Amino acid sequence: MTDTAIAADTRDLLSKFDPLIAERQALLDTGVRDPFSIVMDQVLSPTRAIIKGKETILLGTYNYMGMTFDPDVVAAGKKALDEFGAGTTGSRVLNGTYQGHREVEDALKEFYGTSSAMVFSTGYQANLGVISTLAGRGDYVVLDADSHASIYDGCFLGDAEIVRFRHNSVEDLDKRLGRLPADALKLVVLEGVYSMLGDIAPLPDMVAAVRKHQNCMILVDEAHGMGFFGPNGRGVYEEQGVEKDVDFVVGTFSKSVGTVGGFCVSNHPKFEIMRLVCRPYVFTASLPPSVVATAATSIRKLMHAGEKRAHLWKNSKRLHKGLTDLGFTLGTKTPQSAIIAVILTDQAQAVAIWQTLLELGLYVNMARPPATPAGTFLLRCSLCADHSDEQVEQIIGMFKVAGKATGAIA
Ligand code: PMP
Repeated sequence: MTDTAIAADTRDLLSKFDPLIAERQALLDTGVRDPFSIVMDQVLSPTRAIIKGKETILLGTYNYMGMTFDPDVVAAGKKALDEFGAGTTGSRVLNGTYQGHREVEDALKEFYGTSSAMVFSTGYQANLGVISTLAGRGDYVVLDADSHASIYDGCFLGDAEIVRFRHNSVEDLDKRLGRLPADALKLVVLEGVYSMLGDIAPLPDMVAAVRKHQNCMILVDEAHGMGFFGPNGRGVYEEQGVEKDVDFVVGTFSKSVGTVGGFCVSNHPKFEIMRLVCRPYVFTASLPPSVVATAATSIRKLMHAGEKRAHLWKNSKRLHKGLTDLGFTLGTKTPQSAIIAVILTDQAQAVAIWQTLLELGLYVNMARPPATPAGTFLLRCSLCADHSDEQVEQIIGMFKVAGKATGAIA
């Protein structure tokens, strides 16, 4: 490996990042903390951590249902670690399928009421694998312009034609499908909740638009909807009553489930063949036994989490109202999910509020282009069912102080 210092002006494959390196350095030179290198020194609960010696409320995790410290979930992980060891050291199709992988797939089949469930090592890999395997050269993937990076990357890996429609526009979806050859095979990819602004998709109207066209299958990514939406917590597609119209649901264990991993569930009679042909499933090691054990336990508990769901809604509505009343511009006019995004147009101001909040003892996610829509800077608040009423009031109080101190609100 090269061990000599490389001059900053040397032209090589990393030179294309020079503008970003300079932009980041200029920001750090103003004395702010780097929003993208926070370290949790200790995690006390799903809603509290120690960051740089300060006890901090967590409002920037995807721990929607607070399952990370659930005693049954933790116990299941410890037991599996003792009984099956630290890792599988192999692919699902070779030595990497343990009893626990079967058990978590059974739990998913029960949770979703489907005939098949396939578990991947992350949600990113689930989208990458499922989309690239279903839609190849000559096929079309029709997707919302604000789709998650893993959805776009799945299209690139499969080499399908990508057709984007305007975010959440039923009319544009219909128009773009109408321009494609009727006999071509198409995969329409939608998300239940869009994670940047926290808005949800109008799935019944979208499904109706898709059904006007031939040879379309529908995949819904419920990464941010699982656990929270629908009578059984399946997601927005369940809440909006379109279960029968959806061919594939992709999800993750890294949000409501509280660990790591990804999955796809389906009732398609040929779905199981995916296990042999899906490269991001075949050519990577399977999840450790402790992870699948925690996931299976968590998923089974989420089947009976009505009270937690109700409290999460209450938190979301209270925070949305509190921030609106303070004068912040939010990603949605009404609370639509557990994500509430404060929209700012200026990077310096966004970082200043973010840092002030952190100093007050509140961690939120900072998001910037290209991850965000249309050049916006976002302070993304994601609530947890375990945030107490008192914590939500504290959070609103901290936003009031930080907003005023930085001039973001009057
Ligand atoms: N889909 C969506 C919509 C997401 O927001 C994310 C992660 N933020 C993923 C997929 C990937 O999930 P994972 O963290 O399990 O890789």
